[in-house]
Amino acid sequence: MNKPKIVILGAGYGGMITASRLTKELGYNEADITLVNKHDYHYQTTWLHEPAAGTLDPEKTRMKISEVLNLSKIHFVKDVVVDIKRDEKKVILENGELDFDYLVVALGSEPETFGVPGVFEHAFSKWTVNGARQVRDHIEYMFSIYNNEDEKRDELLTFVVAGAGFTGIEFIGELSERVPELCKRYDVPREKVKMYVIEAAPTALPGFDPELVEYAMNLLESRGVEFKISCPIKEVTEYGVILADGSEVKAETVVWATGVRGNSIIEKAGFENMRGRVKVEPDLRAPGHDNIFIIGDCSLIINEEINRPYPPTAQIAMQQAAVCASNIKALIHNEPTKGFKPDIKGTVASLGGKEAIGVVFDRKLYGSSANFMKKMIDNRYLFMLGGTPLVLKKGKNPL
Ligand code: FAD
Ligand code: NAD
Repeated sequence: MNKPKIVILGAGYGGMITASRLTKELGYNEADITLVNKHDYHYQTTWLHEPAAGTLDPEKTRMKISEVLNLSKIHFVKDVVVDIKRDEKKVILENGELDFDYLVVALGSEPETFGVPGVFEHAFSKWTVNGARQVRDHIEYMFSIYNNEDEKRDELLTFVVAGAGFTGIEFIGELSERVPELCKRYDVPREKVKMYVIEAAPTALPGFDPELVEYAMNLLESRGVEFKISCPIKEVTEYGVILADGSEVKAETVVWATGVRGNSIIEKAGFENMRGRVKVEPDLRAPGHDNIFIIGDCSLIINEEINRPYPPTAQIAMQQAAVCASNIKALIHNEPTKGFKPDIKGTVASLGGKEAIGVVFDRKLYGSSANFMKKMIDNRYLFMLGGTPLVLKKGKNPL
């Protein structure tokens, strides 16, 4: 009997947990499982604000896929997915193609620009390991050249973060912690450094607990961060950003964090989508496809209580992955699939150093207790993936 071919695209939170669950839930000879990823390593997107600001070694955020998955049970292909031929049940890669009986699309997200021109040309928008290394090196370079130029240009030391969502706030939290050290190292007066967070909505962290938002803003302001709220950026240029009111903030560094859309492969492959995200069936299959599952940032699920999509998070991607793996097993065994319902345990955001804010099981946390919780959440994921050895190797000290 031919074994069904399961192909998983993307080795992020969704893909890694699906792969790891399938190896545990399916017997040795029940299926051929293939995981495709553009790198031979898995990285933790949720930690990337730290290496981007230079407060964490990028190596800490990534791990070889061969070290965390049992590759005697999974075939790993390092390649780039370029298209999905849904009806032919084929995935087109840069260097070949793969047939599938069951497909899991977990290719993550891409930056959302909302049509603002100049983002890809002049801002840093890649929340990947390579993108983080580039931002970190660029920031250091700005400090290093400031004293070497005859004319002391303020824009070398002006750092703009576009968007005060969780990514923008977590990044500026790290950067604002690091600036004093950079000033000391490069002999730059602290008052010369300007950090702006520019947000279109009438508040930072729209929709989050207002008391905690105030806590975060006060803390960041005390470290020298300036907020420009209700100020949509309408263009990024080589000189900085232009705001909707026509004013300009000159800066050599613009970090783009105005949200995400699903991977462009979704649109290219012709799935019905909203900003690259597919509104999946309750059991996580793509509408009209009984053999294609879409999870993580490429999927869209509605929070029925408020009739709005859940924000794309690692928390949801991992929970979907567990249900996706068990639904594939069910299909192979001719059993019914089950529906997915997110179990949102809370949200915790780091603010740099030993500071964080969060709401966990409806309890508000801030300061060191939120920081402790954040590090425990980071370590929990490592534990799920690679048990105690991975926590000891890559984990964070919660204290
Ligand atoms: P990802 O984890 O992004 O994985 C996608 C994978 O697909 C990657 O390995 C990528 O290399 C690969 N890939 C992409 N395109 C291709 C291609 N064409 N071919 C081959 N491989 C490809 N969420 C939380 O719940 N909690 C947090 O604290 C949190 N913090 C965050 C902090 C930051 C700085 C950012 C940017 C996001 C954060 N998020 C957080 C959101 C979270 O990271 C995402 O929702 C989550 O990563 C989505 O998981 P995923 O599996 O869909 O995609
Ligand atoms: P987001 O959508 O949460 O926030 C983007 C922000 O950018 C919004 O506040 C929006 O109003 C603003 N914005 C949009 N266009 C703008 C413009 N032209 N000018 C100025 N501001 C503009 O996106 P994100 O912060 O990138 O987060 C992406 C996803 O990852 C979200 O689902 C988020 O919840 C998740 N995330 C979670 C955590 C955490 O839980 N700690 C951390 C980071 C990201």
